[in-house]
Amino acid sequence: PAKCILCGRCVRICEEIMRTCSFDFAYRGNELKIATTLGKPLNYSNCTSCGQCLIACPTGALIEHVQFPEVEASIHAPDTLVVAQYSPAVAIAVGEQLGMRPGTDLGGMIAAVLRRYGFDFVFESAFGSDLLIVEQATIFEERLKEGRDFPLLTSSCPAWVHFLEQYYPELLSELSPLKSPHQMTGALIREWLPSMLESGKKEIVSVLITSCTAAKTEARKVEMTRGGVPVIDLVLTTRELARMIKLSGLDLEQLEPEPPDAPFYSPVSAGKLTGVAGGEVEATVRTLYHSATGKEISPSKLHRFRIHKSMRTMLVKAGQREISIGSVSGLSHAVALLEEIKSGKRKLDLLEVMACPGGCINGGGQPIPVDEALIRTRTKAIYELDNSSSLHSAHGSPALKKSYQDFLGEPGGKLSVDLFHTTFTKREVLL
Ligand code: SF4
Repeated sequence: PAKCILCGRCVRICEEIMRTCSFDFAYRGNELKIATTLGKPLNYSNCTSCGQCLIACPTGALIEHVQFPEVEASIHAPDTLVVAQYSPAVAIAVGEQLGMRPGTDLGGMIAAVLRRYGFDFVFESAFGSDLLIVEQATIFEERLKEGRDFPLLTSSCPAWVHFLEQYYPELLSELSPLKSPHQMTGALIREWLPSMLESGKKEIVSVLITSCTAAKTEARKVEMTRGGVPVIDLVLTTRELARMIKLSGLDLEQLEPEPPDAPFYSPVSAGKLTGVAGGEVEATVRTLYHSATGKEISPSKLHRFRIHKSMRTMLVKAGQREISIGSVSGLSHAVALLEEIKSGKRKLDLLEVMACPGGCINGGGQPIPVDEALIRTRTKAIYELDNSSSLHSAHGSPALKKSYQDFLGEPGGKLSVDLFHTTFTKREVLL
């Protein structure tokens, strides 16, 4: 608050892009009062925690709930195993804050840095994205058999889920029941990892490093706990990771890249694509195409879906089947599209919604400042990871196949439902 200059950019971004209108300047005792587009007073209760206000704030008056001192304390605690997972959007943006060229992929370096820092294991959230894609394809197939009219709505963005719980509770049954990819990875870290360890260390502290500020709120949700315990204990943003690296004094130039740890790593590019808007649907279609035809779709056939727009749709032919896919980023655009679908003007089978414009590469925890050119550069970096990969599909991931073989059973099986499915609840907005 001391740094706030009352410019109102946070309110504008909240109102115009996110449609949640959460900031109330009157709260600070100032005279500035802003009415929302919904005609209601502004309030905190409907905040989706997307963090776009932080990105818009020119003075740094708004910051996330910083948790890296707690991570450091866990690393120094005895009998504690500290486990990290990081998302692809972090890997291609953290370099910006370390003085590197925008779009530099530090995927290999993150594991090297975190191990030197004291983490016992470093995993990739992209593993959870691969899992999500395969499980989501199974859910899609089941809905197809049921002949559902409304598109399957993705549920990997916690800010979007929060928004839907508040403003469209009647559509909660259309949401995929899956948790976010990092929560899925977190569930495996809690439930499967201990049985693979010989370590005498007892307590696992599970740390997520992400571009997403909403993941901080999500980690505390009761629906994300197992036996009353959160599966992710601490959440750091990309900015916090950069600060940790700077404070550690580690010189990245002196380190060699290191791969993340097995078994939760992603040797395919499908999961990494989820860092950009449209990527989750694109990756899911690859798996749906395979289950419909028994063949792999050429990735270039879906490149038309990569057009840099807030809203995009495409019809994909998969054997005898046609799949109508859509992707939208920014909640105000999602509202417009949802209304079209509800009124019957538009028909889709699968719709991805990401709260942040451009997707997670522009999440609220990413380096600041950001502009349109930078969002494009980060997007391109993610697409380059996919273009240069020799393995594109989640269902083809050897790491994923081994997980199903050794532990999970089959996609949509009993254990998958137990570990990866969640429930959604109508959320009352106080004002
Ligand atoms: Fe988090 Fe990504 Fe959703 Fe933004 S788009 S709120 S970064 S999950």
